[in-house]
Amino acid sequence: MRDYYDILGVSKSADESTLKKAYRDLAMKYHPDRNPDNQEAADKFKEASQAYEVLKDREKRAAYDQFGHSAFESGGTGAGGFSGFQGAGGFSDIFDDLFSEFTGGGSRSQRTSNRGSDLKYNLQVNLEEAYSGLEKTIKIKAPAKCTYCDGSGAEGGSSNIQTCTTCGGSGKVRSSQGFFTIERTCGTCNGTGRIIANPCRHCSGTGVINKEKSLSVKIPAGVDEGTRIRVAGEGEAGRNGGTAGDLYLYISMIENNIFNREGEHLFISAPVDFYTATNGGSIEVPSPGGGKIRISVSSGTQNGKRFRLKGKGMPILQGRGYGDLYIEAEVETPVNLSNKQKKMLAEFYDSLSDSNSPKSSKFKKFIEKNY
Ligand SMILES: [Zn+2]
Ligand SMILES: [Zn+2]
Repeated sequence: MRDYYDILGVSKSADESTLKKAYRDLAMKYHPDRNPDNQEAADKFKEASQAYEVLKDREKRAAYDQFGHSAFESGGTGAGGFSGFQGAGGFSDIFDDLFSEFTGGGSRSQRTSNRGSDLKYNLQVNLEEAYSGLEKTIKIKAPAKCTYCDGSGAEGGSSNIQTCTTCGGSGKVRSSQGFFTIERTCGTCNGTGRIIANPCRHCSGTGVINKEKSLSVKIPAGVDEGTRIRVAGEGEAGRNGGTAGDLYLYISMIENNIFNREGEHLFISAPVDFYTATNGGSIEVPSPGGGKIRISVSSGTQNGKRFRLKGKGMPILQGRGYGDLYIEAEVETPVNLSNKQKKMLAEFYDSLSDSNSPKSSKFKKFIEKNY
C-alpha cells in the first residue's frame, strides 16, 4: 500500500486546506464520470479517496502518522476505537461532501447525517441516442437549498446559527465506560450541532424548499433498458446543512421498428429479392449509428440466412468496442406477376433439374417413398 501523503502528493505537515485541494485536484482528474472505461483512473480515484478519507480526519490522521496503514486494518488497534476502513463504501460520500462544499453548500465543520434523499428520474431514449450517447436537459422538481437563508435554516443566514454548547457542535456526546467510549446523538440539537433561535420563515428552518431546476445530464453511449446513471449531488438538498442526495436516471428505451436489441447486439430482418438471392449481388441495410451499410449476398442465398457484421452493433456501455449486427435474409418470392412473366417463369421452371432445388427434390422423394 502506498503512503497516503505520497498518494496525495503533499508533505506530512500539510494543513487541511492543502490536503483538500490536493484531493480535489486528483478527484477531478480521475473521477470515473470523467474517465469512463479507464481502470487505471478508477484505481487512482479510489486510492486518493482512501488517503483523503483518513487524512482529513484529525484522529485518523494521528493514528496513521503513528501506526501507518496497520492503524486501519480490521481487528486493529482496539483501544483506539477506529472502525476499519470500509472498502468502497465511503468514497462517494466524501466526494459529494467535498464538491457540495465547493459549490457553495455553506460551511460545515462537522458531518451531520441529514443527507438529502436520492431522487429517481425516468428518461426515455431512442436507439440512435443510446448509440451515440447524448446530453439532455431535464427538469426536476425537488427540495433544493433555500435561497432566503442560503440553506442554513436560520432567518438572516448562517451568521445567526449558534453552535450547540452541549456537544460543542459535533452533534454527538461521548461518555467513557471503562474501556469503551459510547457515542450518542446530542439531544439538545438533535445531532445537528447547531442551534437556530430564529428559523427561516420560507423553509421553516429546514434550509430546504421545493424547486424546479433544469439540469444538463450526460448519457453515455451504450445505455439500455434499465440502465441506471448516478448524478452525484443532484438529489434532494440535505436538511440542516447536510449533503445533497444523488439523482438516479433510469433509462427506458423507446421501441425501434427496425432493430431488435439484445444487449450490445442488434438484429434486423432484411428482405432480399428473389433475383439477388438467386444470382448474388448486394443489399443495403441501415446502420444503428445512422447511414447505411452495403453487404454482399452470395448466389443461392436461402431464406433465413444470417449475416454477422462484427462491431456494427451497439457500443458497449463503460467498455471497449461494439457488439455485432446480425442480418437475417428474408427472401421475397415475386408477387403480382403478369401473364407474360408467369409464362417466362414456367419456361424457366421447365429448364430446372433436381440439382437446382436439391432440398425440394429430396423432400419430394422422401415423401413418395415413405408415405
Ligand atoms: Zn448538540
Ligand atoms: Zn430558508
